[in-house]
Amino acid sequence: MPLPAIETPATSVPPQILLANHLKALKLPAFARDYEKVAMEAAGDRADYPKYLLRLCELERIDRERRSIERRIRQARFPHTKSFDTFDFAAQPSLNKALVLELARCDWIDKRRNVIALGPSGTGKTHTALALGLAACQRGHSVAFATAAALVHELMEARDERRLRRAQKHLASVKLLIIDELGYVPFTAVGAELLFEVLSQRYERGSTLITSNLPFDEWTSVFGSERLTGALLDRLTHHVHILELNGDSFRLATSRKRQKRSTPENGGAA
Ligand code: ADP
Ligand code: MG
Repeated sequence: MPLPAIETPATSVPPQILLANHLKALKLPAFARDYEKVAMEAAGDRADYPKYLLRLCELERIDRERRSIERRIRQARFPHTKSFDTFDFAAQPSLNKALVLELARCDWIDKRRNVIALGPSGTGKTHTALALGLAACQRGHSVAFATAAALVHELMEARDERRLRRAQKHLASVKLLIIDELGYVPFTAVGAELLFEVLSQRYERGSTLITSNLPFDEWTSVFGSERLTGALLDRLTHHVHILELNGDSFRLATSRKRQKRSTPENGGAA
């Protein structure tokens, strides 16, 4: 097969301009940005041409990896970025730290297992879910994050606009679906069915992480139907890691501490 013709440029065009063009067409932005700087470094170190090219290739790959992590984080639609670096495990002794750190390595996502985080408000469920979601993005997994209420709303809207299949397809295709705050708002019968369908479509195909303030025996109050809840729990808990966060509310504890510090009789400065 003949090689594709590359337009022979007018000789007057400076090579830097041509190079910038080719590198853009080849999608090598780190090459384009760094080739001069790396060339100077290579000259200083007396590195040969293969070493010079190797350094540029390494920079391009590092840059590409960083860009794809950023893209996955954007596509996940996290409401905030949280990581385990800012999570105080000592403040939540009921949470199994060893298990959480193991989950942050994301093997459970490769195995298509699920995680359910249970506990009252303010105990760090969303923080944990966001940090596991971030870890998944960093390890190369596609993630989608939504509260249960928003997800059901989105599905209902998609159904009304006759694009339910597309929405379902997207939700079935991500490696990790995070559904936050299941339990605060009960669903309508249609909403419950739509969420059930999504979870069924993901069964053994991808991982789902759910956070809830309700213990399992109260999930019927959210889904409205005992039959549906039973079938759903059956699928979700077939391969599951359960995280229990039963300590005090972190919000409450920190605001109490803050108040104590700012009360003059406690000797604290405002
Ligand atoms: P939940 O989802 O269980 O209601 P959140 O995860 O939203 O609780 O936590 C409430 C706030 O407290 C968030 O800002 C979160 O980052 C913070 N927080 C909760 N637990 C911890 C913890 N153990 N260490 C650090 N910050 C925490
Ligand atoms: Mg929460």
